[in-house]
Amino acid sequence: MSFTLHGITVSSGIAIGHAHLISRTSLEVAHYVLPKQFIDEEIARFDAALQATRNEFASLRSNRPTRAAAEFDAFLELHQMILDDPLLSVTPREMIASEHCNAEWALKVQTEALVSQFDEFEDAYLRERQTDVKQVAERLLKQLLGQYGHQLPTARHDVEMILVAHDLSPADLIQFKPHQYAAFVTDVGGATSHTAIVARSLDTPCVVGLRHARELIREDDLLILDGEQGVLIINPDKPILAEYKLRQSEWELERKKLKRLRTARADTLDGTAIELLANIEKPEDVAEVREHGATGIGLFRSEFLFLNRDVLPNEEEQFEAYRTVAAGMDGQPVTIRTFDLGADKQIKGAERVANNPALGLRAIRMCLAEPQLFRTQLRAALRASHYGNVKILIPMLSSISELNQTLQFVAAAKQDLDAEGIPYDREVKIGGMIEIPAAALALNVFAKKLDFLSIGTNDLIQYTLAIDRTDEDVAHLYDPLHPAVLYLLAHIISTAGRFGVPVSVCGEMAGELPYTRLLLGFGLRQFSMFSAQVPSIKQRVLTTSLPEIANLTQKILRTDDPMKIRDLLHRLNA
Ligand code: PEP
Ligand code: MG
Repeated sequence: MSFTLHGITVSSGIAIGHAHLISRTSLEVAHYVLPKQFIDEEIARFDAALQATRNEFASLRSNRPTRAAAEFDAFLELHQMILDDPLLSVTPREMIASEHCNAEWALKVQTEALVSQFDEFEDAYLRERQTDVKQVAERLLKQLLGQYGHQLPTARHDVEMILVAHDLSPADLIQFKPHQYAAFVTDVGGATSHTAIVARSLDTPCVVGLRHARELIREDDLLILDGEQGVLIINPDKPILAEYKLRQSEWELERKKLKRLRTARADTLDGTAIELLANIEKPEDVAEVREHGATGIGLFRSEFLFLNRDVLPNEEEQFEAYRTVAAGMDGQPVTIRTFDLGADKQIKGAERVANNPALGLRAIRMCLAEPQLFRTQLRAALRASHYGNVKILIPMLSSISELNQTLQFVAAAKQDLDAEGIPYDREVKIGGMIEIPAAALALNVFAKKLDFLSIGTNDLIQYTLAIDRTDEDVAHLYDPLHPAVLYLLAHIISTAGRFGVPVSVCGEMAGELPYTRLLLGFGLRQFSMFSAQVPSIKQRVLTTSLPEIANLTQKILRTDDPMKIRDLLHRLNA
C-alpha cells in the first residue's frame, strides 16, 4: 500500500531507495530478516561472539594491573555472570531461531526488554545495575558488529538504501558516513539540530520530524524522499515513481551545471567580491571543499573529532588533524572552532545529563570548566598555525569575562610553546561566535577585543526565540525571518563594520538561497556553509546587484508584519 508522510526538510535532493531500519537506542543496529538456510549460521555467529566476549573478560582478568582495586575483580565477576545468564546468552539465540532476525537485532531487543525491567525496581542499587547489563550487551554487540562489518558493504550496497531511524545523534550519522546511504529519515529532530547539520554536510537528502516513520515502514519498502517538499512516499505507484525518476535526473543535471562555477570568482554584478567559505567536521572533508570551489574554511567544527570515541584525541592527534587541514588548504583561511561540546554533542562515556542542555555547560563554558581539555586543544591549534593560515574561533561567548579568560588561555599556551621552542603563527587571529543575543546586543565590547566575528544563526535564532533547535514540536516556530532575528543580524553586521572587524555568517542561513540577497543587503561579505551549497550560493551572488537590492532589504528590516516580510523577500529573490 502506498502512503505519504510529511516532515521537516533538512537537506534537499531527491532519493529513491529501499528502507533500511535501525533500532532506537545508542548503539544503532540494523534489522535483517534472514532466509531459513542461514539461521544456523547466525546462531553460530552469536555463540562465537559470546565466546569472544568471555575470552575478553578472561584476558582482562589475567592482564589486570597488580595493584588493581578489589572492585575490579568484583566488577569483572558481575559482568561475566550477566553475560552467562540465560536471559542474555540463550534468549537471543531463541529469537534468531523463531523470528529469523539477525543476531544484533535479537540481542538489542532482548537488552531493551531487560533494561526496562530494571526501571521498575524501587531499590536504587538494583536499578543502577541496568547500566551493567547495557555495558555487557554493548561488549557483546561490538563483537557481533566487528564480525559483521566486512559483510555489510557487499551484502547491502548493490541497491540504493534509505536509512530510517527513530532518532540519530550527530555521532551516529558520522558513523554511517562511509556507508553511502541515499538518504536519511528520522521520526524526531528539528531542521537545525546538529544531526540535521551533519546530514547536510554529507550532501545527502534528509527529512526529520516524520513522527511515526520508524513504526510504519517495513524493511526493504521502496521509498521516495522528496527533500524539497519534506515528503516521504512509501511504496509509490508506478506513475509517481516514473515522475520522481525524471525529477531526480533533472536535479542531478542542474547540480552538474552549477559545479562548472567552481573556479569562478564570487563577485556581485556591481563587482563586489564575496567570500564563500566552507563548514567542515573532519579533515577528510577538505577534498570536498576544494571540489566545490570554497575559498577557505569558515568553520571547522572540531568537536566532531571527539564523537564516537572511547579515548579522547590527545594533543598529537589533534595537531595532526588541524595540520592536515591547514596544509591541505594551501594558505587559504582555516577557522578552527574550539570544542562546542555539550547539549546534543556529548563525549562518549562522559555524557552529562542537564536539565536544560542548551542552556548548560556547553562550548566555551565547558572548555573553561575543563582547563586541561582546552589547553591541549589550543596548543594543538597553535602548533598547526605554523603550517597554514589558521584562525581560532570561540563558540557561544556570552560574557566578557569568558572572553578575557579565553584570551588568557591563549596567551598561556603561546608562552608554553615559546618556552619549548615550538613554532606557531604569532599573528594568529582569534574570533568569536556571536550566537547568543547578549553578545549580539553588547557587541561593542566583543568587537574591541576580537580579530573577527562569525554569526552562528542556528543558535542565535534558538536563543532569541527560545526554541529548542532539536525539538520537532517547536520547529514551526523556528523563524530566521522573525523581526527580532533580522534586527540582530543587521545590528551585528553594521556594528562589526563600524569597528572594522570582519564578520561572516556560518549558521545554516549562509547556505540557504532565500537569504543570500537579504544578508548581502545587510552588508555581509563572507558566508560559510557546507561545501555542496557553495555553487548555488555563488550563482545567486553572481546574479545580484548590491545597489539594486539596497532599498528592498532596508524595507524588510523596517517591516514587522511577518506576511509582508515574506512578500518582500519573495520580490527580493524574483
Ligand atoms: C550556529 O549556531 O549557527 C553554528 C554555526 O554553530 P553550531 O550549529 O555548530 O551550533
Ligand atoms: Mg552554534
